[in-house]
Amino acid sequence: MAQRKHPLYLKQEPKPGVQRFIPQPIAIKVFETLYKHFGPQGWWPAQSPFEVVVGAILTQNTAWRNVEIALEALRSRNLLSYEAFTKLPESKLARLIRPSGFFNLKARRLKTLTRFIETEYRGSLDLFFSKADETLRNQLLSLKGLGPETVDSILLYAAGKPYFVIDAYTRRIFSRHQWVAPDIGYDTLQQFFMSQLPPDSQTYNEYHALIVKTAKLHCKKKANCQDCPLNIFPIPD
Ligand code: SF4
Repeated sequence: MAQRKHPLYLKQEPKPGVQRFIPQPIAIKVFETLYKHFGPQGWWPAQSPFEVVVGAILTQNTAWRNVEIALEALRSRNLLSYEAFTKLPESKLARLIRPSGFFNLKARRLKTLTRFIETEYRGSLDLFFSKADETLRNQLLSLKGLGPETVDSILLYAAGKPYFVIDAYTRRIFSRHQWVAPDIGYDTLQQFFMSQLPPDSQTYNEYHALIVKTAKLHCKKKANCQDCPLNIFPIPD
């Protein structure tokens, strides 16, 4: 089967007969290199937008395999829906999500979020996600325990809004090549990507997933550059 063309490629395609001489920004070159090497990643691994919201909170400070165990505990009891969450006591929710770590804290955060949607949006996730992008982001950031990485994951992967997700892997890969400083702030690094890429949620979705893949396979705490697709870019001493 022919490989799906990514929207970024379509948007970058020059018109027939027109040569493109403008050098591409580094964020686009890296994306193209990773996408050609790994192909589409099919993120986020979830069956509904609500499951993405739950997963984004459960994955705080823990590995994804622990989140999967917690999600399965909820799914197998038919509790992985907004309606079920509203009726679920916080203490029972905490017990079920125990494998994800910090379970009391995460149960409180999940209940805070569902109560907020209940109060402000009559319990409708669709209504909540239909809000203007900045309004929605600010509202989520105002909730206790939701930082920019969690909020942008919800916005991008559950609501389909074009916000680039920054995590430790992004900072590690881009600072090792000295494209950015190792201590660059979240918002500045997000702006680094969003100013170079088209505002396209599908591209941001794929890009973040590709960064995670590269970091897990090659750019670990100790870099293994030999087989990494990004070794075509120089790494300054
Ligand atoms: S493993 Fe090496 S080549 Fe790959 S992203 Fe990390 S520093 Fe770059």
